[in-house]
Amino acid sequence: ECLQAVLDGRADYTYVDEYVMQYFLNLPDYRGLRVAPQTHEPHRVSFGLARGGDATLLGIVDRAVGSLSEIELQAVINGNVMSDQPFDIVDFVRARPVETFAAVAAVLLIVLALVLTIVYQRARENAKTALDLKKRLRFYALCDDYFFEFDKRTDTLVVSLPDDGRRGDAEPVVISMKASSFSVDQDRKSAFVELLRSNERRVAEMRLPDADGIEHWLSISVEPVDDAGRAACTVGKMKIIDEERLEKDQLLAKAERDSLTGLLNSETTRRRIDEQLAALAPDERGALIMVDIDRFKEVNDTYGHLVGDHVLVGVARVLREGFRIGDVVGRMGGDEFMVYLNRVEPALVKEKCESVRRAIERHAFEGSTCRVTISTGSVLSVRGEAFDSLYRRADEALYEAKRSGRNRCGF
Ligand code: GH3
Ligand code: MG
Repeated sequence: ECLQAVLDGRADYTYVDEYVMQYFLNLPDYRGLRVAPQTHEPHRVSFGLARGGDATLLGIVDRAVGSLSEIELQAVINGNVMSDQPFDIVDFVRARPVETFAAVAAVLLIVLALVLTIVYQRARENAKTALDLKKRLRFYALCDDYFFEFDKRTDTLVVSLPDDGRRGDAEPVVISMKASSFSVDQDRKSAFVELLRSNERRVAEMRLPDADGIEHWLSISVEPVDDAGRAACTVGKMKIIDEERLEKDQLLAKAERDSLTGLLNSETTRRRIDEQLAALAPDERGALIMVDIDRFKEVNDTYGHLVGDHVLVGVARVLREGFRIGDVVGRMGGDEFMVYLNRVEPALVKEKCESVRRAIERHAFEGSTCRVTISTGSVLSVRGEAFDSLYRRADEALYEAKRSGRNRCGF
């Protein structure tokens, strides 16, 4: 207050000790004061009270003050005057502008250097990731597979198209399984979605239409991907395997056929007949016809095996043409053939056997003057009869036909 009074012009001067003076002179507000050092002057300290007070109390205070040594008194004054000044950044900056500027500049430089380092490293990592991705995409492009990702939560399938070299980077196709954009019958769609939602690694073959509605055979591999313990999506690849499937089907079909005549081989004939017999209703009947060429050994002996083979092929063709597509016609081995007619009227069996027998009798075989006849043995199945029993009875009927002179149909 004394210093303020001097500053305001309310007092001409005041006494303070050197230490206190130093402190106040450092504060901007007191810069206007001028100091006149009075080092050797003895001085006294007075206390002023703002509002009078009790005389007795004042006397006690006076005496207490008088009993204090100089040093103790100074400590009391200092303790009261030297309040902790709150730190003020503005004052600090005003007091040390150059140091502050230098410190701020240094901090900014360090931050800038750090940011630049991080940005540089990020850029390097990004470039590496981009290169990795590019390489991986090229790998994908090298195989004809369609890679996909299926989001289980949204039922959305995202398929990336293989790069065919012309298209460039083709946009992935997004198919929503919930929407009807994937037009395929419900059964196949369910099976497909079930495969996509799989919780384990699976591989399956399916027939599905492409965007133009053309059906393809696909080999689909699926693998689930965990998201913090929850299987959130699956990834996988699809490959169009139309050619492989065709080849496989052809091989399978070939494996079921007799190589010389193209008819079903004995194993397949037996299996197909077994299946059809098992599916018969109690009141339905099937007919088994055994066919054997008469004196075929003589054909071989007279004309040679090659002509014998032609005869076998010719007989097979007549048999194939003599019955309906759904009937089972097979070669059981040597010159023995078998025909099975499912759900048939007994009268028709006789009629068919006779017509085939006559057709063979009249048949001129390719490249040869050779003529042959056949004998047949036919039986109708009884309720619940299996192939072996039916076969045995048909064989007996055939034997009877042979025994009674050949070129005839035994029933
Ligand atoms: P049967 O009237 O009693 O039937 O007299 P068969 O001479 O026809 O007697 P069998 O049916 O037992 O003879 C079948 C003959 O068919 C025996 C074999 O030489 C001949 N053979 C079997 N497989 C083939 C073949 O693939 N090609 C040719 N060319 N001949 C075959
Ligand atoms: Mg024979």
